[in-house]
Amino acid sequence: MYSKKYNIETDTHCHTVASDHAYSTVLEMATYANKASLRAIAITDHGPELPDGAMIWHFGNMRCLPPYIKGVRVLHGAEANILDYDGSIDITGKYLTELDWIIASCHDPVLQPGTVEQLTNAYIGVANNPYIDVIGHSGTEMFRYNYERAIPIFGEKGKLVEINAHSFAARPGASENCQIIAKLCKKYGVRIVVNSDAHSCFAVGEITTALEMLESIDFPEELIVNRTLDSLADFISKKRKRNII
Ligand SMILES: [Zn+2]
Ligand SMILES: [Zn+2]
Repeated sequence: MYSKKYNIETDTHCHTVASDHAYSTVLEMATYANKASLRAIAITDHGPELPDGAMIWHFGNMRCLPPYIKGVRVLHGAEANILDYDGSIDITGKYLTELDWIIASCHDPVLQPGTVEQLTNAYIGVANNPYIDVIGHSGTEMFRYNYERAIPIFGEKGKLVEINAHSFAARPGASENCQIIAKLCKKYGVRIVVNSDAHSCFAVGEITTALEMLESIDFPEELIVNRTLDSLADFISKKRKRNII
């Protein structure tokens, strides 16, 4: 996906029919990713604690997929649910190491929106889990936490902060919050990923709103880990000791 300033080659937050409220297959997602000139996508269906998330076996059997589909590298991931204010998640055990990519997010059917203090604790708990890669769509207003306190900790712990384009349209208050979060990431040198959170193939790679916001604050391209397949592969190889290309 192109903007004036950025050329983002990968989309690391995509849902398939394994989540009941998403509408495309892996093949459809890869086909449209290819059309959008993406080089990689991560399939990250919702963890099992969301009422219409994938069941846990989904995450254990992803290796049956070929690594490249329609010329697009398809990574095996999950969007885990944050379960409590300690930052526990619903993807555990062997799945944490077998998967390529783990996002952790708050969803209100699973976690009641708590106080800023409770949610800050939850996010710091997530930061302390070495297997989580990405702090998912954390600009959601109902899950507001102390950004100034938590974001430097995300950086210290090697977490990537997601700027989620879907939030700009779907989550009230998120566009203002995402800008505050992105400015703090810039200030503290914390790395990010920019994703579509596509729930159908027609939205794969659709991150224009997020890129426009990042352009408006002159966000440094080198902090965007999913900007190229190489930069994404470099992150995964350092963290998971696994070469994805
Ligand atoms: Zn969803
Ligand atoms: Zn989500």
